[in-house]
Amino acid sequence: MQEAAGFEFACELDHVGFWDLRVAVAENYQVGRVFIAGDAAHSHPPYGGFGLNNGLEDAANLGWKLAATLQGWGSEALLQSYSEERRAIFKETAEDFIAARIAKDAAFLARYDPERDREEFERAWKAQTDAASRVQGYEPNYEGSPIVGGPPHGKCSAHGTHMFKARPGHHLAPQPLSTGRNVFEALGTGFTLLALNANEDANEDADDGIVESFEQAARSLGMPLKVVRDTCRGELKRYESRLILVRPDQFVAWSGDTPPGDVRALMSRAIGRLG
Ligand SMILES: Cc1cc2nc3c(=O)[nH]c(=O)nc-3n(C[C@H](O)[C@H](O)[C@H](O)COP(=O)(O)OP(=O)(O)OC[C@H]3O[C@@H](n4cnc5c(N)ncnc54)[C@H](O)[C@@H]3O)c2cc1C
Repeated sequence: MQEAAGFEFACELDHVGFWDLRVAVAENYQVGRVFIAGDAAHSHPPYGGFGLNNGLEDAANLGWKLAATLQGWGSEALLQSYSEERRAIFKETAEDFIAARIAKDAAFLARYDPERDREEFERAWKAQTDAASRVQGYEPNYEGSPIVGGPPHGKCSAHGTHMFKARPGHHLAPQPLSTGRNVFEALGTGFTLLALNANEDANEDADDGIVESFEQAARSLGMPLKVVRDTCRGELKRYESRLILVRPDQFVAWSGDTPPGDVRALMSRAIGRLG
């Protein structure tokens, strides 16, 4: 430790622990009533700050599904979607964003050695341009989830593009409401319908009939739904949708300008009650 720091300092070792430096992911995050999350479900060498992030997102994903089931509005399919959504994300995170990059870094260090040619090493290091694209390309999403109205052939993936557009299966992007509050401060603890008025020039509410159809479907399914009304102006236009159904974990379940013919079917799907 003193060699790494470059100077001597007082230090005492209280405990020496070991862990296996490996990439590992459980085959399933659920067996019956037992669920695993965080490092119990997946582990990898410390790299890129992915460890705790993935664990916390597991908890955010599983938490509302457990609550929904305990409160009586969830389903077995909703619980199963935890493993379907989260395991796919970690698998790609581990393979494409951790293992592949560790191998790439190793190849770089094998090719460029500051001890051998410092100038060449520094030039090559500065010329590396993929740092930004690494960050940009990491956008875990659930496009292929059975409880999300994603695009045809969509899949749950760690690869994606960061956009403000509200896309089913993607995390809602932060935007200020017309009150000045951030949208995340207004979301409910259950589902939230963001209902943005079509008329940009008038400070009117979204169509009452449309909002009522969502509220009625939620009531009939026993699921909590908060409606946040605003106008489709300013930054909110960047969502590119006037109706956005947001899950309790802040991922978009569905978005559109007009409601589908069967709003209840849409809401049922979002909570795994597909039949
Ligand atoms: C050296 C190192 C550096 C890291 N750096 C980063 C980083 O920079 N950024 C990042 O995001 N992540 C990092 N990580 C990963 C991060 O620490 C883990 O992903 C995260 O701590 C996992 O949290 P967890 O709650 O799932 O598991 P843990 O933190 O392992 O918590 C599990 C807990 O359960 C307890 N426990 C185990 N068995 C039992 C039992 N039978 N009964 C009761 N309790 C039990 C354990 O004592 C422990 O407290 C690093 C990991 C390591 C090892």
